[in-house]
Amino acid sequence: MSSMIPPVYDTPVFRMACQQFDLVADFLDIPVNARDRLKLPKRSVSVAMPVRRDDGSTTVFMGYRVQHHLTLGPTKGGVRFHPEVTLGEVAALAMWMSWKCALTGLPYGGAKGGVTCNPRELSTGELERVTRRYTQELIPFIGPQIDIPAPDMGTNEQTMAWMMDTYSLQSGHCVPAVVTGKPVSLGGSLGRREATGRGVAYLVSRAMDTIGIPANGATAVVQGYGNVGSIAASTMARQGIKIIAVSDAVGGLYNAKGIDLAKLDEHVAKTKSVVGFDGGEAITNEQLLLTPCDILVPAALERQITVENASKIQCRILAEGANGPTTPEADAIIAQRPEIFVIPDILCNAGGVIVSYFEWVQDLQSFFWDEGEVMSKLYRILEQSFMQTVNFAKKRKVSMRFAALSLGIQRVHEAKTIRGLFP
Ligand code: NAD
Repeated sequence: MSSMIPPVYDTPVFRMACQQFDLVADFLDIPVNARDRLKLPKRSVSVAMPVRRDDGSTTVFMGYRVQHHLTLGPTKGGVRFHPEVTLGEVAALAMWMSWKCALTGLPYGGAKGGVTCNPRELSTGELERVTRRYTQELIPFIGPQIDIPAPDMGTNEQTMAWMMDTYSLQSGHCVPAVVTGKPVSLGGSLGRREATGRGVAYLVSRAMDTIGIPANGATAVVQGYGNVGSIAASTMARQGIKIIAVSDAVGGLYNAKGIDLAKLDEHVAKTKSVVGFDGGEAITNEQLLLTPCDILVPAALERQITVENASKIQCRILAEGANGPTTPEADAIIAQRPEIFVIPDILCNAGGVIVSYFEWVQDLQSFFWDEGEVMSKLYRILEQSFMQTVNFAKKRKVSMRFAALSLGIQRVHEAKTIRGLFP
């Protein structure tokens, strides 16, 4: 049974997140009068931000922050800089963060933020001014015990450094715990930059064990060669997996013999794109998704695997590095293809928020861990979440996505029920 979608959030991505929630709520028999309370974002902020451009003109950018639920602790989630950012998209991503944090047992509600802009078309100075203005506008709504931003698409360690600096200047003292994904020199955690991609690769290896594919000779295709995609690719390559295709927003690259990632990284560092690298032939993103392989890793945008291509993808493992890369309609098609093992987004890319949690804990204690400690704690949580999801899926005869969402949603529902309703 579906319930209402407020018009401010009504976008295809938010509808998709609600559709997933409604199916799980029916399955878990969540009382109808508890559903909107669980589903609808608690708090959303929308800001118009005038920013001075390098040429002296002023552009007003739209910025958003959505905090999905405040039941289990502060909220946590990335900040996206992308031309297609909308309030509805940010709200959907915040909802998925809630289920992800609950699935992995982190003491957070989900949040997400974004600025509608194209970071590729902004100078470093303009990016800094957009980031500082966005942070300034959000000061009453963020903080180490309120809401802790982190990097997402189009943002990185530098963005977090500017956010932390802007917030600290306002506070009158240094507040490293206000954001995660910072440079290590500012109180960032060792392993945070690599955490999401390494987590994807770890879960891919667990999925390979589960369905019996040996790493040596296995092939992988990665859509989106950014933070998540590039680290997932290099970690899988170290496990003996051959990376035969990668792409970014500009285009893709294919090499049946395996792409030389070290050389590709040098090319990307120089040109900011995989396109034009001479170690493979050019392909489109559409062709990339249909390339036969053992492991397909979408690590770019939402809604890439759709009714159009779900019956045509040719992989054994679909490892969702991105958030929301598969539409519910595509999911129904993939459910009829038992040869494909899905590692759903809220599990597959959870490494990022898990190590963000470690960074927050280290900042609050001013006591820092070595990389080995960070990684072993990360893999322990991922292993536990993976096994709980696999066992739930087997026992209740549902898909891995349904199992992961059920575990996350059930935990938030329980917490809300136990806390009760005030007044
Ligand atoms: P990023 O900005 O570092 O990289 C994104 C990559 O995707 C870039 O190479 C970009 O060119 C490419 N891209 C954009 N549009 C594309 C398109 N239409 N087709 C193909 N490629 C395209 O971002 P990221 O941090 O790696 O995030 C990627 C995905 O992973 C997002 O869905 C994000 O929400 C998710 N995620 C990120 C983290 C994290 O820690 N960074 C954590 C969890 C989930």
